Amino acid sequence: MSILVYAEHADGTFKKSAYEAVSYAKAIADITNTWVTAVTIGDISTSELASLGHYGATTVLHVSSEQLNRFINQAYASVVAAAANHANADLVIVSNSFSGKGLAPRIAAKLGAGLADGAVELPVVEGNKLTVKKTAFSGKAFAFTELISDKKVISLNINAFEAQETGDTPQIETFSPPIEERDLATIVEEIVRITDKVSLPEAEIVVSAGRGLKGPENWGMIEELADALGAATACSKPVSDAGWRPHSEHVGQTGITVSPNLYIAIGISGAIQHLAGISASKTIVVINKDPEAPFFKVADYGVVGDAFEVIPKLTAAIKAYKG
Ligand code: FAD
Repeated sequence: MSILVYAEHADGTFKKSAYEAVSYAKAIADITNTWVTAVTIGDISTSELASLGHYGATTVLHVSSEQLNRFINQAYASVVAAAANHANADLVIVSNSFSGKGLAPRIAAKLGAGLADGAVELPVVEGNKLTVKKTAFSGKAFAFTELISDKKVISLNINAFEAQETGDTPQIETFSPPIEERDLATIVEEIVRITDKVSLPEAEIVVSAGRGLKGPENWGMIEELADALGAATACSKPVSDAGWRPHSEHVGQTGITVSPNLYIAIGISGAIQHLAGISASKTIVVINKDPEAPFFKVADYGVVGDAFEVIPKLTAAIKAYKG
């Protein structure tokens, strides 16, 4: 079994999730006694390409084409499927990112492969069968998917597997698969960046607040805490519905799913629809003045207290600790 990883980059710098995906593939390759090929698309430096070798890629296929400088779902799926065939790969790994969510099923369809999306840990390997633990029902449960087809695709949840450096230098190859006209039916004209902050689905730390904050004028202390921690900010649905925060910060069943190492929930009750979006978080800290708030049931650490007293003290302590 050879393994192909699609490595995502942003403006020529690999995302942390790309290194996680390569490390994940390398760990499977070590179990199955095979090797990892990575494929990436777009303008990127040779040294950046080489960095994938540090995480376990033996070969890096670089696809450079003006038509593909911006992400196009169909075209990128065709390129990754072509790369899988080129590398004789029977397992393809992508990150379960915004683009990966669209790519994984398309790649699987093109390869006639079985798909497990949202993997949270290494699969159990038994001969040709991979049993993949993954999130299900908007993150409310875990499921075990058995991949028994010859070709397989796994999308890996962000922050689910730690990137591990191995220190090798990969072979870098230019790869130029033909791009069909129908794959370019959708053209991305312009990308408008609405924030320079770390994107919420990829954040390692998320500071999230709810209606307990009383109003938008009180978000200064949430942003200060987030800045002190290098975190992204998020909120509950009623907060974005009320226009206190942008909808892009709304976490939950009807919003964004996050999988950070640390999720700090402040003044959020912990309704099932909110928990649906955060259950893949590694450590959950809840700050709520009501000791009976349902959120405490899923918390690793809880602080029963008034956010308006706790948050400034917590921020001051973090700043003092960081010097
Ligand atoms: P509240 O429920 O009002 O809770 C506020 C909390 O703040 C309380 O626990 C209170 O004790 C605490 N508090 C008050 N003052 C303080 C203080 N000074 N210090 C500390 N704590 C304080 N919700 C989502 O978030 N995401 C979703 O995707 C989502 N999808 C939904 C889909 C459907 C179909 C439906 C029906 C609902 C959905 N909801 C969603 C709404 C969800 O059911 C809850 O109503 C919502 O999550 C509650 O938001 P909240 O916790 O901010 O507010």
